Amino acid sequence: MEEAMGAQEQTLRPDAPADVGLRVAKLNERLARYIPPREMWTPVDEALFGPIDLYRVPLEDAQTMQLKAITYAFTRHYNNNSFYHEYCTTHGVSPSDIKTVDDLFKIPLIPDLTFKQYPEGKDFARWIGSVFTGDLPKVVIKGSNPTFDEVINAFNASGLVVTYSSGTSGRFTFIPRDQKTFLTGQFGLVKSAINMWGGDLFETDGFLLFPNPSKTDLFVGKVASVYFDVVKDVQMAIDRELTTKDIQMTMSGGQGLKGRLFSYVQNRMQEKTIGKIIQWLERHDKAGGTVSLVGAPYLLYFVMQKLQADGKSFDLSEDSFVLTGGGWKVRENVRIPVKDFRKQVHDILGIPEASCFDAYGMVEGNGWMVQCPEGHYLHLPYTYYKPFVLNEDLMPAAYGESGRFAFLDALAESYPGFIITGDQVRMYEHCPVCDRPGPVLEPEIHRTTGEEARGCAEEVRRALARDFSVG
Ligand SMILES: [Zn+2]
Repeated sequence: MEEAMGAQEQTLRPDAPADVGLRVAKLNERLARYIPPREMWTPVDEALFGPIDLYRVPLEDAQTMQLKAITYAFTRHYNNNSFYHEYCTTHGVSPSDIKTVDDLFKIPLIPDLTFKQYPEGKDFARWIGSVFTGDLPKVVIKGSNPTFDEVINAFNASGLVVTYSSGTSGRFTFIPRDQKTFLTGQFGLVKSAINMWGGDLFETDGFLLFPNPSKTDLFVGKVASVYFDVVKDVQMAIDRELTTKDIQMTMSGGQGLKGRLFSYVQNRMQEKTIGKIIQWLERHDKAGGTVSLVGAPYLLYFVMQKLQADGKSFDLSEDSFVLTGGGWKVRENVRIPVKDFRKQVHDILGIPEASCFDAYGMVEGNGWMVQCPEGHYLHLPYTYYKPFVLNEDLMPAAYGESGRFAFLDALAESYPGFIITGDQVRMYEHCPVCDRPGPVLEPEIHRTTGEEARGCAEEVRRALARDFSVG
């Protein structure tokens, strides 16, 4: 305990903004139910809740925390997950092999496809049990051929948070989180954003540019439920139910008349959504209010396009905040130029460019990479999350080389979060622009060639924006 308090003081460096300590204290108070009692902290909790600023922990301290947290998580999955235990045995690796930071790469990584290879019907429930680490709650699933939603709902009713993300092929990625994994992941997201921004998120009125968390099990929707516990008030872009069936339909495109009708309804809804956001902005502009907008960038992009076309602009409070995530596609093969986006946020909404951030995360992980305001590189929460960039032989690539993103995520308690993704990234040992220690990713993330298009904003975009274009 003494040691941890020491680490906490150490991590607030004199060059960190003075407000950061205050904001984090407020965060800890506001999200108290997300934090386990101090005397029960594991090395994983220590790595997330201990530092004041996750992105400014001196490298050596961070590596010490990282090694302890990840070794703790690895031991847990090795001992409590029979599928992962067997996988490790095949690779001839056990927790006793992990002694230094350099040994971390020995921890067997699972391809992200693992979470897409599920059976349907009753066996789907058994499959969730097989990837889950720990004791699954007992659930009753009615009928002999339950849908994905019925199985997920049964688990979630008993306290689990099973969420999913989808690819264009119609295959989902299902991840079972227990309450602790879900809450710490959400806490990590808000802490990451606050650490990077330094502003007072708690005093903003929020607009969520994602689906209503209580009406979907899409990861991107569910994870945003923490937003309601942080800001003063939240309005939502998408307030209808979104099931796996809806998502499958939108990702596959829908055929024939049904597809065209579906697409027509989607477009009408999207126009209504944009109108709703503009009205909300107008109201807050008049009242001189401080706002936060969080979610899919393409929605805000369409809002700004419409405002621009109508010759309108706002002068929102300078203390306002924008956090985007999930990818930058507006239409097939069309990406939003991120630089222009930030400039528009300033020119059209009046929110400073330095208060406009993009974050990178995924359904399989609980680490959040947030852009620094100085150079817009994606900083990694390296006290509990170890990133790798892998070459074609799945060996670590040198800094600056492009390759496949992989990570060891200590926060994943209910499934082994040691994963090779399908994302193509470039990592640097240090940010080329700002003075925060620790590695960064280049802001532009792409899918590895041949991998299906995916991304949280992508399924939301498709759910709403098929063939929709402005201007
Ligand atoms: Zn930076």
